[in-house]
Amino acid sequence: MHISSINVYDAKNIHDVLNLLDKEPGRWSILAGGTDIMVQLDLGTWQAPNLINIWGISDLSGIRINKNEIEIGALSTFSEIINHPIIKKEFPMLIEAAMLTGSIAIQNRGTIGGNIMNASPAADTPPALLAYGAEIELTSKNEVRRLFYKDFHINYKLMRINQDEILTKIILPRTSNKTIDFYQKVGTRAAHSISKACIAVRLTMDKKTITDIKIGLGAVAPMPIRVYMTEDLLKGNKLSMDLIDQAILQIASEIHPIDDIRSNKAYRLRVAINLLRNFLKGLL
Ligand SMILES: Cc1cc2nc3c(=O)[nH]c(=O)nc-3n(C[C@H](O)[C@H](O)[C@H](O)COP(=O)(O)OP(=O)(O)OC[C@H]3O[C@@H](n4cnc5c(N)ncnc54)[C@H](O)[C@@H]3O)c2cc1C
Repeated sequence: MHISSINVYDAKNIHDVLNLLDKEPGRWSILAGGTDIMVQLDLGTWQAPNLINIWGISDLSGIRINKNEIEIGALSTFSEIINHPIIKKEFPMLIEAAMLTGSIAIQNRGTIGGNIMNASPAADTPPALLAYGAEIELTSKNEVRRLFYKDFHINYKLMRINQDEILTKIILPRTSNKTIDFYQKVGTRAAHSISKACIAVRLTMDKKTITDIKIGLGAVAPMPIRVYMTEDLLKGNKLSMDLIDQAILQIASEIHPIDDIRSNKAYRLRVAINLLRNFLKGLL
């Protein structure tokens, strides 16, 4: 579809967006920062003729700090996230992911909501959100509902969102526990390139026993994933070389990378294994 055949409606506020989605579900798509949509328009792969422009709707941006959680408006840009002192302190993997997303121009325009909703398996913030146990808020004219982000992606570009809903918030649970975070993206270059593989891990340890662990991965399956069986294998156990070897075997059977223009299945598998192994070995 060519840009000249696109119909863009500039929404004035969130009610305007929700009314339109309610009245004509499936007819409208959301235009946020436009960094993904513009590329798809340019390539001729964008199919939706009607866009609701939400850029500038203040209800959808902003970062709110509550006692037990942090709410990030879906329209918050990577730059806004990078510059937030509390996110920097408590959720460093999200900062790292945002800093590795594209160039500064992309960080100033691209939004966290767009990163989730574009649903690229190789997007940079989803692994961090998965490792943090994030929730998301979906809003329609008649309902506001919350969902654990781990349950949102069903398959490639397939998500648990209805045609009359918009992603409004990302919610990060705060913790007072001492946690260890590890985020690494492997691309052609560290920055300005799309991931060949990406891992985010948050864990807690008591002496050498892993008391809790969440592992988020990007570019190793049709969607961003957690590796629950690997997490279960590690959880409650004392870290040892033997346990690490078992975890490596487990993660290798749990991920399903593909061959594409950026990399191949064997390389992605090897990288994901090495990233986890090296991180865990560093904790011995
Ligand atoms: C040069 C370049 C480099 C890039 N590098 C990276 C990179 O390193 N890592 C990375 O992860 N990404 C990268 N991207 C991709 C892109 O910048 C991000 O995915 C960005 O977060 C998209 O946000 P946006 O606001 O621009 O989304 P848009 O382009 O506006 O929208 C993307 C999709 O999300 C939907 N959408 C947006 N917001 C909402 C909402 N609130 N509710 C429902 N649906 C919504 C839109 O309908 C559309 O389908 C790059 C893009 C470019 C052009």
